[in-house]
Amino acid sequence: MNERNGTSGVTLVAGAGLAGLTAAYRWRQRGEDVVLVEKAPYVGGMARSHHRNGFIFDFGPHFIIEKTSLLDELFAPDELVAFGPEIHMVLGGRWIRYPFTPSSMLKVPLGVQMDFLRTRALGPRPGVDYGPPDSFRSNMSRQFGHGLYDFFFRPYLTKKFGGWDISDVVHSDWWAMATHTRGVVTRFAPPAPRPGHAMGALRKLARLTKELPYVFRKLALWYPRAGFGEIPRRIAEQFVHNGGVIRLNSQISQIRRTETRITGVVVDGEEIPVRRLIWTASPNLLARMLGTSTLDMPTLHSVIYFISTDRRYRRRGTEVRPVDPEYAFYRAYFPETICEGLTPGGRSAVVAEVGTTNRDDLAKAGEKYGAMIDTCAALGLFPHGAVTDIFHDVQPDCYPVYPLDYETRLQRYYSELAPIQNLLLAGRNARFQYYNSHQVIRDGERTVEDVLF
Ligand SMILES: Cc1cc2nc3c(=O)[nH]c(=O)nc-3n(C[C@H](O)[C@H](O)[C@H](O)COP(=O)(O)OP(=O)(O)OC[C@H]3O[C@@H](n4cnc5c(N)ncnc54)[C@H](O)[C@@H]3O)c2cc1C
Repeated sequence: MNERNGTSGVTLVAGAGLAGLTAAYRWRQRGEDVVLVEKAPYVGGMARSHHRNGFIFDFGPHFIIEKTSLLDELFAPDELVAFGPEIHMVLGGRWIRYPFTPSSMLKVPLGVQMDFLRTRALGPRPGVDYGPPDSFRSNMSRQFGHGLYDFFFRPYLTKKFGGWDISDVVHSDWWAMATHTRGVVTRFAPPAPRPGHAMGALRKLARLTKELPYVFRKLALWYPRAGFGEIPRRIAEQFVHNGGVIRLNSQISQIRRTETRITGVVVDGEEIPVRRLIWTASPNLLARMLGTSTLDMPTLHSVIYFISTDRRYRRRGTEVRPVDPEYAFYRAYFPETICEGLTPGGRSAVVAEVGTTNRDDLAKAGEKYGAMIDTCAALGLFPHGAVTDIFHDVQPDCYPVYPLDYETRLQRYYSELAPIQNLLLAGRNARFQYYNSHQVIRDGERTVEDVLF
């Protein structure tokens, strides 16, 4: 029995991704009994790495966008390498630097450039149909011109979404949450339209010129020398060292509750009394177990292909995003360009990502090895015959997707959970937020702040 509020039981954390690990670690540091339950046989969730034949592969390109204090606690400064990605799109057969810089914009068709500059200076064209007001298409083409939208955004995202054109169905907030890069097409706020106002147009042109230096700045990211999966591994190590319990391969099948509290969680058939539940897994599973409405929002699933090659091949940039439809994946990174030690000496690798909204595709992913290798050869990443190993891994529900009415849906979901006082949500899926790792780490940490029970 707890003295403070008369409840007993452990702090149970569901899910050992970065959010759950961080929450578990911080609660344990506060002296709580913490049990971390994970259905997979490993910790890390989406931030997992595969170690195979001397190669270290992450589940898709993974970089630390913002260092948090937790990372400073776990890593000595020289264990994190600074990294500046160089990304190229392949559009109409041309390699174009991304985020678009003024020089890469020169490779874009002239009509698209003119439309872009005109839109930046004068705002959206009056009388043009930009689609539903909150839609992704409306927001992006009003900011950057519909020429650039049709040339780049539409085909790129249709490819990322496995053939689904999200233009008019996805809310513009989705992109705002998804991007963290600096470039001509990602950095600036939409210009307010003031047609016919010459001084206003001049001011906007002047502002655009002033902003251009930002696009030349290298993005400073961080990366753990031992692979991204080293982050969850170290948090788990410290948590266990401090007396925390991790149960891998464990399924949560039921949650016991009253009107206002979670009282117990059934794990592998055993009921565990809980003082609080920190949930980082699927929102729909949680809702089903609590008897509340599910959060029926679309998600994107990923298949990642890990390809090892026989020797080191020349690279243009650190990541390529082939937009043209003939290519089988929408982005790939090259581990050997991040730091030494991710590939054995003198060897290269390609980690390629395919997105789909159809779960059935995940089971058929193994049928696409030939297409992945053909695409790498067609892009000149390595010649046919260079592959020494290929395997894949899948992750359902790894990108949240926001339909136009997403706020109403999220509000309903949260309001039904609100009466349950000892339930805390953290992480990308549980909160249905397009969070990156530093954000889910902070989210996990926030569970220990301002909590009175
Ligand atoms: C391809 C890709 C690239 C990315 N690139 C970057 C990047 O460059 N930089 C960056 O900062 N972030 C990146 N991210 C995002 C980052 O990976 C996520 O924000 C973060 O890993 C999410 O952590 P989480 O703990 O919220 O969720 P998850 O990692 O999904 O963890 C949830 C855990 O819950 C477990 N679970 C699910 N159901 C149950 C259950 N019933 N019982 C018990 N356990 C359960 C899951 O197995 C999982 O381990 C990327 C993500 C992807 C997919």
